[in-house]
This record gives sequence, structure tokens and C-alpha cells, in this order.
Amino acid sequence: MQLTGRHVETAQPIRLTCEEGAISSIEPLSLPEPEATALPWLAPGLFDLQINGAHDIWFSDEQLTVDKVLTVLRALLPHGITRLCPTLITNSQRALRHGFEVLRQTCEQHAWADHMISGCHLEGPHISREDGPRGAHPLDHVRDCSIAEFEELEASSGNRIRLVTLAPETPGAVEFIQHLTAHNVVCAIGHTAANSDQIAAAVEAGARLSTHFGNGAKAMLPRHPNFLWDQLAEPRLLASIIPDGHHIPASVAKCVLLAKGPEHTVITCDSSGLAGCPPGIYAAAGGKCEVLDDGRIVVAGQRQYLAGSGAFTEECVAGMMQLTGIDLAAAWPMAHSIPSRLLGLNDRELQVGHPADVVQFQLTDKQTIQIDTVLLCGNIVYGDGL
Ligand SMILES: [Zn+2]
Repeated sequence: MQLTGRHVETAQPIRLTCEEGAISSIEPLSLPEPEATALPWLAPGLFDLQINGAHDIWFSDEQLTVDKVLTVLRALLPHGITRLCPTLITNSQRALRHGFEVLRQTCEQHAWADHMISGCHLEGPHISREDGPRGAHPLDHVRDCSIAEFEELEASSGNRIRLVTLAPETPGAVEFIQHLTAHNVVCAIGHTAANSDQIAAAVEAGARLSTHFGNGAKAMLPRHPNFLWDQLAEPRLLASIIPDGHHIPASVAKCVLLAKGPEHTVITCDSSGLAGCPPGIYAAAGGKCEVLDDGRIVVAGQRQYLAGSGAFTEECVAGMMQLTGIDLAAAWPMAHSIPSRLLGLNDRELQVGHPADVVQFQLTDKQTIQIDTVLLCGNIVYGDGL
């Protein structure tokens, strides 16, 4: 199996050969200019830290099954997403346990799914109770931090929970973050209305990421101090953002990029379970949600609070380029190697010996990404590989 294209980070034309699921060689090609720039791009598959589901299936669904998980994973591949953290949001302990058990079963039964699921993301239930910061998470299930509860969920998942988003003002947060950090689980700050001292204490305890910076926040804030400045100014925190064109304006994306630098900025789509669904009102895990004509997904009955995005990761990589003016070589790692490194994973680059999870795509004049071919462990899972 061979693919030809321009290397996403160097723009060098290459021929990439895969054997037995891995990249076996990468040869530079010398082509004259018009031919070289006409080639598609080649990149490692995208990695998204935060995917709630797709096509009317939520990982948080209390009726989640192995087949439903597989359906979502298959729906992600045409978008170039070959690695993800399925994300379960605030829910009852029983429902969360069920979700993580099903994810564990999926990984145990299907090697390709295990390959894609590099860890799970628990977003909540230890978040702000306030409207606004709480976002679309159900108030009934918001609760204080509990290490015992986390350990139970971690056991259900087969030790797959690698990322936990919580609000630093939740009682017990510091001990909770210290415990998780000591066990190699990355803690992220999100859905919070914390004060400066609480943000500082969370970072001191080990928190390393701001989850979807600028969203899951109050609509009105004091000019300063506030938890946005506190997180933006903290060099130990990476920031994830949702550059889908709806969640944050260009100025916020640019400020995050300038404050954090490209090496500490993470692109996530935070796709809702309704991503890929036509407009309408749907029953969702935390209540009713609505897909609007313009692609936004909101908590039904209002227009202020978004409930995840309807875009997938490759659209957000393109969105980041459109919002901030950065190029592909800078944007792609924000949805690949930077989140990988955050979780201590760094094994899926375009390098000989690494698994052949490869995306071949076109970048249009309007800076949109059109996926041609996706390989997962060297197998064509989308497109024709020409
Ligand atoms: Zn969220």
C-alpha cells in the first residue's frame, strides 16, 4: 500500500509505504513545482480529546451498547479522526459506570476500536452548579469530588480514563487533582466559575489543561480578575478551543494562540452526539437539544448556551486556520501531536515503524479540508487510496 502527497509539516512531496499495519518507508520525491503543489497532503490521523458521540448516538447514553460505540467510531473515520477520547459528561454514577463498561467491552472485543480509543475523557460531574458555567450538563447530577467514585469508574473502564475535566471550586478538588495526577490521569479545568486562588491551587495540584477555553463560562464577567485571565496567564496550562466558527470569535482564538503559543494550544471539535444530524429537536442525555439551521447545537428552548458542536475535527483544524491565519503545518499538530503529548502518547507520527494511521486530503482555496483517503493500521477505511 502506497500513498503519495505532501508531508503536512514540511510540504515535501513524499511516497509513503505501509506494510503489515505500519509505515515501512517514507521516500522524498523530487517533482517540478506545478506537479508538487498539485499533490494532496499527507498527515497522521487526527486525535481529538473530546468527542461526545455522533449521528444521534451519545457516549453518555444510558442505553449505550458496543454496536453504538462502533457506529460512532466508523462515522469519525471519514473525517480523518483515527484516535479519540470518547467523552462522558455529568451523569449519575450508575450511568457513567455503564458507559465506561461498554467502552471497555468495545476495546476488549474489537482491536481496531481499542486502537482508536487511546483513553476516555470524564467531563464532570464535579463542575460548577451555576447556569452558564455548567453549560448543558444536568444540574441534578453535579456533585462534589470523590476519589472513591473516580476509582470505581476507572475500574469500569479498565483503567482507560486518561483525562478528567472539573471545576477547581468543587469541594475536594485539590486532593482529587493530586490523586489523579499521581496516577497519570490528566486533570483539566472547565465548566468553572473559580476565583484566582482556586485556579492557582488546581494548577499547583497538577491541572494541565483548560477545557474548551472560553466556553462553559458565565455570559457576564468582571473585567479583571476573572477565571479567563487566570487561565490564559498560567504557562503550565495548555488550552483547548473549539474553532468551529460558532463557539468562539476569531479574537479569542487569536488571543489563546498568542498567549499559549502553538505548542500549547489544542484543537477539539467537542462534537455533540447530534453532530452529523439534520436540523430539529432531539432527546439527549442531559435533556432536549436542538440542531439549528446554521449548524449550531443548543440546549433546546434558548439560543445562548451551546451543547457541543456539529462540526468534526478536520473542520475545526480548517476553522482554526480561517480564524487565526495560521498555516496547515501549525494547525494540524494541535489536533494530533500536542494532545497526544499531553496524555503521554507520542507513537502515531508520520515515521517509519509507527502505525499507518494516515490521512490524505486536499486543502481548498477557501481553506477547507476535504478528506480523500484514511488509513487505519494500513487498511483503507475511507476513500480509494489513489
Ligand atoms: Zn464541556
